[in-house]
Amino acid sequence: MKRKEFLEYLSLLTIAGCDMNIKELGSMLQSKDEDIRMPVAFIGHGNPMFAITDNPYKPKWEELGKKIPKPKAILCISAHWITKGIAVTMMEKPKTIHDFGGFPEELFKQEYSAPGSPKYGRLAIETIKSTNVLEDFEWGLDHGTWAVLLNMYPKADIPVFQMSIDYYKPLQYHFDLGKELVSLRSKGVLIMGSGNVVHNLRQVRWQENAKPFDWAIEFDALVKKSIEDNNPKPLLEYQKLGQIANLAHPTNEHYLPLLYILGLREDSDQFQFFNDSIDMGSMSMRSVVFS
Ligand code: ZN
Repeated sequence: MKRKEFLEYLSLLTIAGCDMNIKELGSMLQSKDEDIRMPVAFIGHGNPMFAITDNPYKPKWEELGKKIPKPKAILCISAHWITKGIAVTMMEKPKTIHDFGGFPEELFKQEYSAPGSPKYGRLAIETIKSTNVLEDFEWGLDHGTWAVLLNMYPKADIPVFQMSIDYYKPLQYHFDLGKELVSLRSKGVLIMGSGNVVHNLRQVRWQENAKPFDWAIEFDALVKKSIEDNNPKPLLEYQKLGQIANLAHPTNEHYLPLLYILGLREDSDQFQFFNDSIDMGSMSMRSVVFS
């Protein structure tokens, strides 16, 4: 468009009652890609070896990374960072934490060298009004985060930061805190919860293709139905189930990341399950993305 035509175009906009000026037009065009609303996802991470071995879950992680819009940053709420109070990682270069024992050397050699994101970490801290959130410079990326991201984003070129889970708070607190973070979705931040819908390491069955326990099937089905019904209530009071609840989660750090993601769900979201199988009898790998 020539300059004269452009000026005529602007005057037409004015005549039409549109008072948008050049500056606003420019900022509208610039902010275009910032307006992508990111999905939120809960990922069942399971055995740390799934990060590097051939298994049915890995290809789905790879697929997810390719399928969703490229995030500006990733916030991961992992089962493996539980604290009293909350903290957000703020370092430029988070270290890869090998927070497990008894696995082959190859797993300890894995490094996920994604940059951190003090910028989006600060944004998350400022977004949360209900409680004080500390800045953290000690943690890094635990395996709940990197085992999945190694496959979703193998280039490690997207900044990643983590938020810890206050293990001393009631279930509703985690759901509400997730809700509070919802504005980050429209700022290009992919928020991921990483845990397991059913997680009982004491009952693991080691044989190949182990049959899932009945209580594991039942609890997994409860989560599935609650998501399908868009009704988080049964999941916010799951402890009322008594024995099944205790068997599904003898400790519930792997369950809590799911509550953040359910809090972040919006009514307009579609949902899709993937990796919906039970590994080693007592670990549900069920994952879900809301977009
Ligand atoms: Zn874990």
